[in-house]
Amino acid sequence: MSKQRIYLDHNATAPLRPEAASAMAVAMSVFGNPSSVHHEGRRARAIIETAREQVAKLVNAKPLEVVFTSGATEANNWVLRGGYQQIVVASQEHPSVIEPARQCGATVVELASDGSGIVDLEPLRGPEGFAWAARSLMSVQMANSETGVLQPVGEAIACLPEHGRMHTDATQAVGRVPVNMPALGVDFLSLSAHKLGGPAGAGALVIRDGVPLPSLVIGGGHERRRRAGTENLIGIAGFGAAAAAAARDLAGASARIGALREVLERGILGLMPDAMIIGVDVDRLPNTTSVAVPGFTSETLVIKLDLAGIAVSAGSACSSGKVGASHVLAAMGLPNGVAASVIRISLGWNSSETDVATFLEVWGAVTRPRALRAVA
Ligand code: PMP
Repeated sequence: MSKQRIYLDHNATAPLRPEAASAMAVAMSVFGNPSSVHHEGRRARAIIETAREQVAKLVNAKPLEVVFTSGATEANNWVLRGGYQQIVVASQEHPSVIEPARQCGATVVELASDGSGIVDLEPLRGPEGFAWAARSLMSVQMANSETGVLQPVGEAIACLPEHGRMHTDATQAVGRVPVNMPALGVDFLSLSAHKLGGPAGAGALVIRDGVPLPSLVIGGGHERRRRAGTENLIGIAGFGAAAAAAARDLAGASARIGALREVLERGILGLMPDAMIIGVDVDRLPNTTSVAVPGFTSETLVIKLDLAGIAVSAGSACSSGKVGASHVLAAMGLPNGVAASVIRISLGWNSSETDVATFLEVWGAVTRPRALRAVA
């Protein structure tokens, strides 16, 4: 019988929560089109509206502000391709923010990060001020997927002129730290179901009440004419249930997971004092450890750990599983040699003390060859 695997790659995707699986199983037996007026249609509509309330509650938004999409990639594309003349983005954003910014014809300003992984807003604060266009958008994520470092979204908004619009990609933050959209003051917020224990292929763009945004996907009048296409009923049902479970567990889970991460990092540094935890001195998501491992390449480590039954990733592996130079670490100015040794360990709702203890045991065995090399 094969050994139990340990999954420590929640930032790539989280295992489905049982609450989401149950809600999806119920939705699977509902076959009405949510736009139909008959009984079957109304049953489907009720599932979607319950999910909308659950998702809205997780970010303290109004249900009517939540528009369901196929995920955060679509939500990000929608905002970034909203017809702005000028777009200011953090260069550590996810490709689903960076690429549409670069390809939509707007003037783009990409902000670097400081050595801790925090976006550097100084270019917006120069003595002469920053030349904002009439239709400007700024996009700064809440938390980085590779390092977990929390970004100063509120400070970024303070740099924006009155007429500027603010977007935050909160995909990695929701369900892990409290996210309060009205308190943040953003116009647009993206999120994705599969990072919080819902299914992949469902997400949302939350649009502050009254803020205009032309539709990206046009056709029928779904989602109050904002996003055409018959709703992904099963995915949305799972998304809503995962959001409700994440909201219910938030306070306890972030403390519990933060404590596990503490044990994990202390253990890694105990075995390897020259390992470097990225962003250790700044506020981070409680679940993420990004660590540079001298003497190893991330690719080798990920493969060795995988063979030993543990799933982690090298930088950001969520798009293609590729192992390549990380634009996030490059934006921080991390030398290539160091960046090539970084692995990301990300915990989540089902991570346990045993997972961390086993990880550390395996880590010791996998990294021992370096110690032996040093002695020889
Ligand atoms: N933004 C961030 C910060 C992400 O980590 C991801 C997923 N890796 C996305 C956007 C894209 O989300 P989805 O997979 O739902 O398209």
